[in-house]
Order: sequence, then C-alpha cells, then structure tokens
Amino acid sequence: MIDYHLHTSFSKDCSTGIMDVCDAAKKAQLKYIAITDHIDVYHNPELVAWDINDVHSPTGYINSIKMAQEKYPEIDITFGLETGYTESGYDMVANKVKDINPDFVIGSVHFVDGLDLYYEEYYQDKTKEQAYNRYLEHVYKSIEPLSKYAQIIGHIGYVCKAFELPYENVNMKYSEYSIVLDDILECIIENNMGIEINTSGLLSRAKTTIPDYDVILRYRKLGGEILTVGSDAHVPENVGSNVGFAFELARNAGFKYITTYKNKEPLFIHI
Ligand SMILES: [Zn+2]
Ligand SMILES: [Zn+2]
Repeated sequence: MIDYHLHTSFSKDCSTGIMDVCDAAKKAQLKYIAITDHIDVYHNPELVAWDINDVHSPTGYINSIKMAQEKYPEIDITFGLETGYTESGYDMVANKVKDINPDFVIGSVHFVDGLDLYYEEYYQDKTKEQAYNRYLEHVYKSIEPLSKYAQIIGHIGYVCKAFELPYENVNMKYSEYSIVLDDILECIIENNMGIEINTSGLLSRAKTTIPDYDVILRYRKLGGEILTVGSDAHVPENVGSNVGFAFELARNAGFKYITTYKNKEPLFIHI
C-alpha cells in the first residue's frame, strides 16, 4: 500500500508530528509513503506562507525525515514537498526547492488571483463555471514552470473540496470541463509529469477522488502513465484512507503501475 501525499506539523495547517504520521502509516500497513509538507506563497510575496521555513528550518525538516527513516525501516519513506504555484511566488519557491533538494515534489494550485481557493471569498460573485474554469486555467499555466522541479501536478479539481462552497453540486465533471482538462492532461504528459489520485475528496462534500474517475480514465486514454496515490492526510486517522479504493480506480482505468520516486526518478510498483 502506498500513500504519497502526507502532511506533518511542518505544515502550518497540520499539527500531527512526523513520528505520529509514521505510526499511523505503520498501523495502516503502508509500505511506501512520501512526506510532502507545504511550501506556499501568497499572492503578495511579502506574506510568505512558507510553512516548513516559517516555524522550523529546512534543516529541521530534512533531519526529521531522516530520523523517521531510521526509526521506521519497514516503511519506505520518501522525502517530498508540496509546493503551491503562484506566478509572483514562483522564483522564490523554485529556489527554495533547489536548496532543499527533495526526492519528490507535488506541484499544486492553492491560490488564484491572490485568493485562497479553500475559502468562500474566491467563489463570491462567480458562477461555478467561472470559478472552476479560472482555477483550471491557472492549473494549465502552472504546468510548464512546475515541470522544472515537480514530478506531479497535485489534486486536479481541488476546488470541489473547498470549505462551504456556495454551489448546489460541487463536483467537477469531466464532460463539463473537457476542453481545458484535456489541455491540462496533454501538457502534463508532454512535460513528462504525472497526476495523483488524491483521496481526500472522498471525505469532503464532493465524495469523489480528486480528480474523479472520468479524468483518470481520460488521462490513461491520452497516454498518461505516471500516477501516484495520496490521502493528503492532515490528521493521523486519515493516513492511508481510501488508498485501496484509489488502486481499484487506477486498475479499472487501465493502469498496471502506481508510481513512487527516489531521487526524482520514477519507480513503478505493479498493482
Ligand atoms: Zn494541496
Ligand atoms: Zn496537501
């Protein structure tokens, strides 16, 4: 079992210590995990939300992962990061990633037009189509720059799990956003990157993986091969949640392998 998207207290929005995350991973019988704490920058680069640098130094993060690797030899623990893409914060984050030199990076979009996608403010005065399309355009724009240091694009369709969305149906159906989603998936494949099945959406109002099955299937049909699976857990009880279900979706969509990483190089685990 694999969980390649996990947060620890090095992320501002998470208070679970790294050893507690590893304990939970052991209990969930996970064999491969990636610790992927946040590096995010708000629209105003002066308001840095550098999680791992804010409270702790990158050295603290790196050493904690090393200690976890020694303490849990039965789990293959990958040293990762989840970076947030914004145009203005890109250079700052890219330089930081270079300094930290992790084995695996998830490139995500959490902010659009200076607004945090998790909160209502971004959605106010926008129809669902406007809000979702604007987000997807931003994801598309992020791919090429992110390909310089990230291996996968995180949680495509993230908006559907936002807090208190003002829409009756929050799901992002492939059929309704197929043009931009195809552009995104093709661009990811051209840049030798991958996508993840993020299971956190199953615990949200959307009740689907992010992205959902139709997008995963389409990615496969377009030739996509690099696929990771992650719970995006911020609390111990969510570590490894629904990863078995994600494997099932992957198999149904025609994938024979789930990807893990060492030294930024993909390793394919047969499923
Ligand atoms: Zn994220
Ligand atoms: Zn995350």
